[in-house]
Amino acid sequence: MLIRVAVPIPTLDLLTYLVSDSPAPVVGARVVVPVGTRPVTGIVVETDVELEAALERKDLKSVRQVLDAEPFVPQDVVALARWTAEYYAGGAGAAITAVLPPKARGTRADAHKTLRVVSITAAGLELVGAGPERPGLHGADSDVGRPFQGRLSAKQHSLLEMLAGCPAGIPAPQLAAQGMAADTIARLKKHGFVTVRLDRIDRDPFEATSLSLPPADAWRCLTAEQEEALSRLRALAESRTFRIALLHGVTGSGKTEIYLRLSAEQLAAGRRVLMLVPEIALTPAIATLFRQAFGDRVAIQHSGLSDGERHDQWQRIRRGAVAVVVGTRSAVFAPLDGIGLIVVDEEHDSSYKQEESPRYNGRDVAIIRAQHAGALVVLGSATPSMETYRNALAGRFERIVLPRRILDRPLAAVSVVDMREEYAVGGPDVVLSRPLVEAIGECLAKREQSLLLLNRRGFATSVFCRQCAATIDCPNCSVSLVVHGEGSARRAQCHYCNYSARVPTRCAVCAAPYLEQTGFGTERVEAEVRRLCPAARVARLDRDSVRRKGTLTSLLTRFRDGEIDVLVGTQMIAKGHDFPNVTLVGVISADVGLGVADFRASERTFQLLTQVAGRAGRGDLPGAAIVQTLYPDHYSVQLACRQDYPAFYERELQFRRAMRYPPLVALSNTVVRARTFAGAMDDAADIAQKLREGDVKREGLTVLGPAPPPINRLRGEYRAQLLVKGTNRRRMREALLTAVRSRPEVARRTTVDVDPLSVL
Ligand code: ADP
Ligand code: ZN
Repeated sequence: MLIRVAVPIPTLDLLTYLVSDSPAPVVGARVVVPVGTRPVTGIVVETDVELEAALERKDLKSVRQVLDAEPFVPQDVVALARWTAEYYAGGAGAAITAVLPPKARGTRADAHKTLRVVSITAAGLELVGAGPERPGLHGADSDVGRPFQGRLSAKQHSLLEMLAGCPAGIPAPQLAAQGMAADTIARLKKHGFVTVRLDRIDRDPFEATSLSLPPADAWRCLTAEQEEALSRLRALAESRTFRIALLHGVTGSGKTEIYLRLSAEQLAAGRRVLMLVPEIALTPAIATLFRQAFGDRVAIQHSGLSDGERHDQWQRIRRGAVAVVVGTRSAVFAPLDGIGLIVVDEEHDSSYKQEESPRYNGRDVAIIRAQHAGALVVLGSATPSMETYRNALAGRFERIVLPRRILDRPLAAVSVVDMREEYAVGGPDVVLSRPLVEAIGECLAKREQSLLLLNRRGFATSVFCRQCAATIDCPNCSVSLVVHGEGSARRAQCHYCNYSARVPTRCAVCAAPYLEQTGFGTERVEAEVRRLCPAARVARLDRDSVRRKGTLTSLLTRFRDGEIDVLVGTQMIAKGHDFPNVTLVGVISADVGLGVADFRASERTFQLLTQVAGRAGRGDLPGAAIVQTLYPDHYSVQLACRQDYPAFYERELQFRRAMRYPPLVALSNTVVRARTFAGAMDDAADIAQKLREGDVKREGLTVLGPAPPPINRLRGEYRAQLLVKGTNRRRMREALLTAVRSRPEVARRTTVDVDPLSVL
């Protein structure tokens, strides 16, 4: 029989193999297959495959080994991976990589087994006496009752004493942490003083990621609005068919509470729940709430966990030991069975899009998963994506609105500071405007907290020469380097390829010693706050500051506990968080996103401003937000200040309609990479030509380009871009794949992004 196998090698599509033994493997089982000369573990995706005419049976290789009698990856997840591979034109290899737990990628049959931790118990060792009077083991050989020649070392003595107090044994890592060397243990084992036992211990990521939250007032009363929303969602869930609901609730309207209740009802009915959040930064808070409600039936899945932790959680889910999975986009592929509800919180968030192959959007895969499972999917947001809102208005999604905050708390009062005026007064180096500095001061005086948002990391965003105007650019990418740190710790870094260098003192072009830093990022904001408010306790939360494991949780906990007055950060602080004592939010520059050459720039800016303003005044204290901008009249800024989502939607839709952009058409972004710019453009022109030769008119396709994208050189390669728009996504994808595959050598250097979130 022939089977098709997906191997976790992103560049490969489905492979066909011969199986001779019976019974044949089932879909979802792992098989070891030869890829070239190498054995690779893959997942069976299709059985009983018909031999294609073009394939000679003798060319086919055989499966070397079948590792599972039962599906290792559940069959519905295999189907989801196939859908993902096809819809996103990404290939089966990339899709199956997204689905597998990290350690299942090896070729050993037991590679997926849970790590075993050694624990040690004293064997047959009777210690004489107890308590402080205990004579210890000095000269205690006879007490042990074993023929033992020689003396025990001090280390060995103390190990035996420790073990005497722990009849269940002590895990090896704990002993190691106390300075017990492995060979101390091994020697005692050899003489029969201790036994070593292997235990299955799931590494529990909650220990490292749970937040200390104030105890939930268990099942407090829902407001009438929450109650109404919940009962509508309940009715949809109870229909036990595939349904999509948009829960459109302003920031602080109590959406989380609704997710919890709805989940509880699903669990009570014996169904399982998948809870997706956009950012790793948000998982601790949500996971803690779910854990408080559902105990250890909750698992978490996100890329911030170690391979081991992720693997253990995957196995727990696969064993059926878990009823709720909380996680980021990759959790949409969790091996969870019997799903009744999928929640996609902050569904508009761009973190749901994976920016490498497979370039899927977790929200859209979630919808397909719910469809396959006949489940309810709830998309929650205060600022729904244009796509989702359009679907809701068209009646394809049920729309449930929470128009007000809990307990009628007012939304933050938002005011705009025109930075042109600040520059006129304070010069071009102003980072914090006068109104913002004043507001931070008032906040400090009242012992309340502030959040300052700037969606740009680093200290200075570029370095330029005052004599010849040259900038310091990345040698691999067409972007300027960002300065991190101050003084002697200064480094210039590329945010795209991680190239890093010392900041030179002289211009590389004209050798003049007049290099100047311009632009600023979060590090500079942090430094400015320290300078202007020396009494404030300031911290920074961005990708750089939370690189070390555990930092994120500890920062968030310290902020929640009031040990930090001012938290500066990137969009990581903008979303979802619920800090009741935050009364001021400052947006250092609303313009970061607006200056980007991307058709979603306005939408992103509106979302970010609305979300970040939504972090203020969530507790009993009213909040305020101050937005600094050079474009105070831009509709994104204006409408975000008024928190008027419907008006923004209408305004933005006009723009998308005029420009023929999503959600009015389907869009794909094809990027060809090459060693030279001309090469990239030529190859892209070739693909464009092939597309245009096809029946473009009938397919309703528009082909734009080739053109250099805003970043035309990345990681040492030049890039050329083709945007294809169509009214039928499937036809668009097929036409594109046909054109790309007609040039196999080019295809290897080409990526197709279907429904791109960004076209940079
Ligand atoms: P959202 O996710 O819609 O932005 P949250 O779910 O975080 O809002 O809720 C905002 C705040 O209101 C939280 O502090 C939450 O604990 C609180 N809250 C939610 N529901 C209620 C309720 N029924 N009564 C009192 N407080 C509530
Ligand atoms: Zn670079």
